[in-house]
Amino acid sequence: MARILVVEDEPILARGLEDDLKLEGYEVELARDGETAARRAQEQPFDLIILDVMLPHKDGFEVCRELRRAGLRMPVIMLTAKTQESDKVLGLELGADDYVTKPFSPRELRARVKAALRRASGGIPEAYRFGEIDVDFARYEARRAGKLLDLTPLEFKLLAAFIRSRGRVLQRDQLLDGVWGRGTFVTDRVIDTHITNLRKKLEPEPAQPRYFISVRGVGYRFDG
Ligand code: CA
Repeated sequence: MARILVVEDEPILARGLEDDLKLEGYEVELARDGETAARRAQEQPFDLIILDVMLPHKDGFEVCRELRRAGLRMPVIMLTAKTQESDKVLGLELGADDYVTKPFSPRELRARVKAALRRASGGIPEAYRFGEIDVDFARYEARRAGKLLDLTPLEFKLLAAFIRSRGRVLQRDQLLDGVWGRGTFVTDRVIDTHITNLRKKLEPEPAQPRYFISVRGVGYRFDG
């Protein structure tokens, strides 16, 4: 799960953010001032930083500038109490990825966090090629040696999940969460059937898969 550093000097707000993000399953660390924040962010790997602008010792802008200068690339979401456009622009110029104006709804912040993490994880490329297959995710088209293939939307999602994790084993329940959605009831057999179909459409020799590899007792790995 993603690790988030929350930098906020106002105790009630800080605690609220911490509780809320933990409920979402994130690991959360709090920092109360800019100096601590800048230090912790360089000592520990964080996937995302929520950074208040008005902080003791060092303000959020300075912290952001310092982290970017140190070569850290994790997404930074600035919290600004002001609605001045200049603040937002300055934050973005200093390398913040997004900003949220106080007061904000926890739901809005959660959505921004999720989006920033998704962008940072690279998502999937718009186009991907392996073997004779060309996939265009923007157009939902896949071709084999130039000839259009008939992939269902679910097969596109499966393929995207594989490409995102290429070279790594995906367990069936990871595929289930990522493709069908958490809480859906789908048997292993159904997952296997879809992968068989995907192989029929995309493998040069479906009976001897080269790209969609079964890893016995665990799941599948995409070697494309
Ligand atoms: Ca503050």
